[in-house]
Amino acid sequence: MEIAVIGAGAAGYFAAIAAAEKGAKVHIFEKTSKTLTKVMVSGGGRCNVTHDCESPAQLIKYYPRGGRSLKKPFSVFGPKETRAWFEQRGVPLKTEEDGRVFPKSDSSQSIIDCLEGEANRLGIILHKSMELLSIDPLNETEVVLHFKNNQAFSCRSLIIASGGSPQLRGYQFLEKLGLALHDPIASLFTFNVPSSDLKDLKGLSVSQGSVQVPGTKWRQEGPVLITHWGFSAPAIIKLSAWHALDFFKRSYQFPILINWTNLKEEELRQFLLSLREEGVRKRVFGNAQFGIPARLWQALMLKAEVGEAKVYSELSNKELNRMVRFIGACPFAVNGKTTFKEEFVTAGGVDLLEVDLKTFSLKKYPNIYLAGEVLNVDGVTGGFNFQHAWTSGFLAGSAAR
Ligand SMILES: Cc1cc2nc3c(=O)[nH]c(=O)nc-3n(C[C@H](O)[C@H](O)[C@H](O)COP(=O)(O)OP(=O)(O)OC[C@H]3O[C@@H](n4cnc5c(N)ncnc54)[C@H](O)[C@@H]3O)c2cc1C
Repeated sequence: MEIAVIGAGAAGYFAAIAAAEKGAKVHIFEKTSKTLTKVMVSGGGRCNVTHDCESPAQLIKYYPRGGRSLKKPFSVFGPKETRAWFEQRGVPLKTEEDGRVFPKSDSSQSIIDCLEGEANRLGIILHKSMELLSIDPLNETEVVLHFKNNQAFSCRSLIIASGGSPQLRGYQFLEKLGLALHDPIASLFTFNVPSSDLKDLKGLSVSQGSVQVPGTKWRQEGPVLITHWGFSAPAIIKLSAWHALDFFKRSYQFPILINWTNLKEEELRQFLLSLREEGVRKRVFGNAQFGIPARLWQALMLKAEVGEAKVYSELSNKELNRMVRFIGACPFAVNGKTTFKEEFVTAGGVDLLEVDLKTFSLKKYPNIYLAGEVLNVDGVTGGFNFQHAWTSGFLAGSAAR
């Protein structure tokens, strides 16, 4: 009997290839008529395959859910092994300044060609338009699969790599196995701020800002981008991932404070005071500070009610305080979210306690394995979600017999 893999995504292909390399006869069952669809659109069409990270201890810090449990798996198959895997199979990779790793071709097609080429070479059989509905784990050497078109398939081992799903419906066959599931919720999204008075400035950004939810410790640093619906860029998207559950509970309605600089309130105040005390006669309105783009600076000065003719040396204490507020803690009301087009994931899925993390097999059913986003693991943007798909796929596929 053979090994069946459910899902022709990143984790499914990786698991299938690892199993076939060990000599197993492998079948992939995919519910749609397409394969590797997320890989194709990933990273804006460039596929951010992994992240350049020195050690598993550093890597796990990028996973709002599941990271700590992945330290060991990452030490067996982490970013270094991922790079070697693709490069040995003819896909040269490059690392960008921020640590993200892409194919040198800047095209996700290179990754797809590699995975499909390996699957063909190893004789992996792909069954499209086969939606798994239920699983009968007969015993430790036989699992029977039932598909929507009334077909059934018997296999010795099963690897489930069916991805995340925005609805619990996508996890029904897992629920029937009695597995503990975390409700699926969105992660990696941008903030809608319908009442924002900065929407006309869409496209402007600061490279070193921060976003905070007042009254909490929820805060992230990084670039902040003004969009026509609110705000985006890494500071926002990281915050959305780390507090996906908190924001879900608040129905995506909460206040935020944006600091348009990388300075603390007191540092901002001291700098502005020094301009006043040094008697700087330049107009505040026309002389932006802290690397803030001129048009954004002017909008902030309007909010701070600093007149267009005012010079730095004549700023009143009240004006100075308002400047500090709108530069360092500019308030907005978030109301809703928008999917981040470059990358998004589902937080939630099967609880990691159900899984033996050496092999990614289920503790209840040792010949059933899970890999990829179907697990309750998700990372921030930067190649971390694929890394988890490669790691769990590789370990599950290598262990399946
Ligand atoms: C637009 C976008 C861009 C992204 N960019 C990046 C990036 O650059 N870097 C990064 O690290 N991550 C990125 N991600 C996240 C990453 O793509 C996912 O985390 C990863 O693809 C998960 O792989 P997977 O194989 O677990 O699931 P999936 O890729 O979702 O594959 C699951 C497959 O299983 C199939 N399936 C589901 N249910 C059944 C069933 N019942 N029967 C049979 N088949 C079934 C699905 O149709 C699907 O083909 C991006 C995500 C999106 C949406």
